[in-house]
Amino acid sequence: PEIIAVVPAAGIGSRMQAQCPKQYLTIGHQTLIEHAITALLRHPRINRVIVAVSPQDTHFSHLPIAADRRINVVSGGSERADSVLAGLECAGGAEWVLVHDAARPCLHQDDLARLLAITETSKIGGILAAPVRDTMKRAEPGVAAVAHTVDRQNLWHALTPQLFPLALLKACLSRALSEGATITDEASALEYCGYHPQLVAGRADNIKVTQPEDLALAAFYLSHFLT
Ligand code: C5P
Repeated sequence: PEIIAVVPAAGIGSRMQAQCPKQYLTIGHQTLIEHAITALLRHPRINRVIVAVSPQDTHFSHLPIAADRRINVVSGGSERADSVLAGLECAGGAEWVLVHDAARPCLHQDDLARLLAITETSKIGGILAAPVRDTMKRAEPGVAAVAHTVDRQNLWHALTPQLFPLALLKACLSRALSEGATITDEASALEYCGYHPQLVAGRADNIKVTQPEDLALAAFYLSHFLT
């Protein structure tokens, strides 16, 4: 079945300390968001991408990729979940929806293909994720001292893309938002409603550009690991 993609890109990227929102920083001759969208559209099952941008956005419409007829633009909201929900509102009758961060330019085609393959076996959907490598410590709030070590055995980094049946994601996001739940990715909305999305092991180089030093790292990954 067809899979529609939603790319939330309405964040301001305050941790990046850049002149423009981080998704519009460039690696090579393309912005981060163009790298992200291009990776999605390279897959034959993805023929439509809905991009949620800030109502104040002045950048997206000037990008070459904005002329691509497979791309629709909507206004995002104040939280990431609001932006995704705005995208879902115009997703029409697609069965599955794939959500991918605009600030994740290093998505490998193998990872995308393995995630999409779960539509054959799952009714709930799942996410790309990478096992945690470091020893994990929990601190008490506001105290920079270790309270205890968290067992990393079953701990994963949640990445994107995240893939869910469209109707299910819409229902879970709406409910989680209206009940004031903390939602930092799409999976957390499903978890809030009692579902257990699948974890699909993905590459650790699929980083989200968040801090200034991440940009050089993403550029390195893109030039060495992707085709
Ligand atoms: O801020 P963070 O790195 O968690 O943002 C992840 C993604 O969500 C980014 O692509 C950002 O543009 C998007 N976002 C959004 N609407 C918001 C906040 C973040 O679309 N209100």
